[in-house]
Amino acid sequence: MSKGMWDDIPVDVGLVYEGERIRKKQMQVELGGPKITEKFELVQAREMDEIEDGKVIVVGPDISDMKVGESYPLGIIVEVAGGMVEKDLEAVLERRIHEFMNYIEGFMHLNQRYDIWCRLSQGSFKKGLNSLKIIGTVLTRLYKSEFTNVIEKIQVTFYTDAEKIKPLYEKAREIYNARDARARGLTDEEVPEFYGCTLCQSFAPSHVCTVTPQRISLCGAINWFDARAAAKVDPKGPNFKIEKGELLDPVKGEYSGINEITKKKSLGEVERVHLYTILSPYNHTSCGCFEAIAFYIPEVEGIGIVDRNFKGNTVNGLPFSTMANSTGGGRQTVGFVGMAIEYMRSPKFFSADGGWKRVVWLPANVKENVKDAIPTELYDKIATEQEAPDLASLKEFLKEADHPVKEYWTEEEEEEEEEEEAEAAAQMMQIPTQMPQMQMGAPQMVGGMIQLPMFGAVQFPAGAIGGLGGGQWKIILKNAKIYAEEMIIKRVEKPKKKQKKK
Ligand code: SF4
Ligand code: ZN
Repeated sequence: MSKGMWDDIPVDVGLVYEGERIRKKQMQVELGGPKITEKFELVQAREMDEIEDGKVIVVGPDISDMKVGESYPLGIIVEVAGGMVEKDLEAVLERRIHEFMNYIEGFMHLNQRYDIWCRLSQGSFKKGLNSLKIIGTVLTRLYKSEFTNVIEKIQVTFYTDAEKIKPLYEKAREIYNARDARARGLTDEEVPEFYGCTLCQSFAPSHVCTVTPQRISLCGAINWFDARAAAKVDPKGPNFKIEKGELLDPVKGEYSGINEITKKKSLGEVERVHLYTILSPYNHTSCGCFEAIAFYIPEVEGIGIVDRNFKGNTVNGLPFSTMANSTGGGRQTVGFVGMAIEYMRSPKFFSADGGWKRVVWLPANVKENVKDAIPTELYDKIATEQEAPDLASLKEFLKEADHPVKEYWTEEEEEEEEEEEAEAAAQMMQIPTQMPQMQMGAPQMVGGMIQLPMFGAVQFPAGAIGGLGGGQWKIILKNAKIYAEEMIIKRVEKPKKKQKKK
């Protein structure tokens, strides 16, 4: 970005502002966000004669007309034209709105599509950033400098008038849906390669998205076609081709090509990726902008899903935000994974774990949204916050509904015994450094090792175990409810072993 480029802009513009958070107390105004239902951002490809280059239009009140500390609706339409501009590029260009708006000092943009959330700081407002026209101008310049050979003309329109946004919001949702639908039916096996995205590395440095036809990116904004189009026109950009390499595990979805490129792009942090499971130490990494979180519920051996808009506590007693904090940041966390709502429509939706047969809890509005994807015979067996606000009611509900997850349940008595055993073992345990390579399975004694499911309380950030070096490590779990999966806990039988060796 050349220096003179921003001389007429009252605040600074640059990469350095990307991670900036604006707290409620510091904000001048909020645009979109949780208080506003209808909000969206959309990029549309146009013909050269349909738009005026550099033009920024504001429909509705501008920032200077807005009350301090209030929330307002926001719709953003970015129209682009040029010889290389094609429909397939819309989604990836759209995803860059997030990045480019965050370059503006004192301006924050979160999420994507129908879920955007922006804030302007009082500091930047005082410096003169008092109009969406300025923000639009920054956007047009950043787009043109980043996509020099692609975008020849760009025009930006901001809508802040609730009445005007309504029909456009509906239209935008139709467009998102049509994009998503395009990849439905295409399988991972039939395409020659996958694609990746590292756009979120500015927030989550070890995060690498693998985008396959049957696993849309976790932000939900970039599908296989989108990433492919972007990699073609902007090979040095955040989207890239992934050669599949060898299919190492068809069930969990592990490919040598994905492992290789993820390792390289995460600078060695992430070495292996399992695409179709939530129960692996090699779960897909999660950045921060996932549309929803899938969380394992050890008490019923099932999977719950919560979307970003769900208010209050989920069935496990935690709200979305708490789970997002322990899931995001580019980590691989057993039992927690960020995902797109659209992924629920994929035949590979947690297929390694049993797919829909394992889903036990969804927010009511998500259940309604993905009704078409839920196997009919399961629809009434999946609980929502209405039937199951907590674990006790969930268990009752699943029993009564005869949910297929019951297949995974052992006898209750056995369970309790195992829990006790696990608790005793966990008072103090030593974990072999190669632990994550161990197989997953039902709790059992194997030689001196106990293999048991363990979730919730303990989470190892990517690389934490592998990077420990030689020797053994002591991990003390306080107040932990012990269930383990993907983890082998070695019982320490100190005196015995030493004696034997002698
Ligand atoms: Fe790219 Fe993934 Fe971030 Fe979406 S979540 S912008 S696909 S890195
Ligand atoms: Zn992200």
